[in-house]
Amino acid sequence: MSIPEIPACPLCGQAETRLFCLDFLRQRHYWRCPDCHLSWRDARHHLDAAAERAVYEMHENHPDEPGYRRFLTRVSAPLRERLPQAARGLDFGCGPGPALARMLEEAGHSVALYDPFFHPDTSVLNAEYDFITCTETMEHCAQPGMELARLLGMLKAGGHLAIMTGHLSEDARFARWHYRQDPTHICFFQRRSFDWIARHWNLTTVFHQGDVWIAQKPGRI
Ligand SMILES: [Zn+2]
Repeated sequence: MSIPEIPACPLCGQAETRLFCLDFLRQRHYWRCPDCHLSWRDARHHLDAAAERAVYEMHENHPDEPGYRRFLTRVSAPLRERLPQAARGLDFGCGPGPALARMLEEAGHSVALYDPFFHPDTSVLNAEYDFITCTETMEHCAQPGMELARLLGMLKAGGHLAIMTGHLSEDARFARWHYRQDPTHICFFQRRSFDWIARHWNLTTVFHQGDVWIAQKPGRI
């Protein structure tokens, strides 16, 4: 398989990235950034939009499904502890069944929905929010740096950004990591990738446990 041209990092823009993993079976290349420690699948091996949507439709999670709600409690519980009453939020990449939004609404908050496939109303991206959730979404983004800048632009001073995405804990696990096998997963973060994000955008990490990271923008709501 031919080695493609070295791409710049899609999170921090670093030009000096390196080939990190070759999957000969699926003919995929993965790259690694030495600065923000992001790993990502080469752009030549991304799905097209129709194939990507088909995978999401297969994985539909119903908002009332107890197991799925329990899974989302990992982000909703630490976020709720930090929100003021009746906060206004955005669930970015909410998917077809916006369970997290419903859970936060049950706690008295209001939540706008955005998803490029299932809730494509872009007018919600022109507002400002007290909090933004982005669960199981960042790993699908081809340009996570651009998406983060866009999300932080919609976040009020003192607002919270909550991201849930699989964290790569050991390089040795990467080749066999189940998270890598999903054809729609293209970006893989490590704990220190979030340290880089916090430093770069001057955010304060207020919670970082397992695959959930919550950060606060400087200032007061
Ligand atoms: Zn980088």
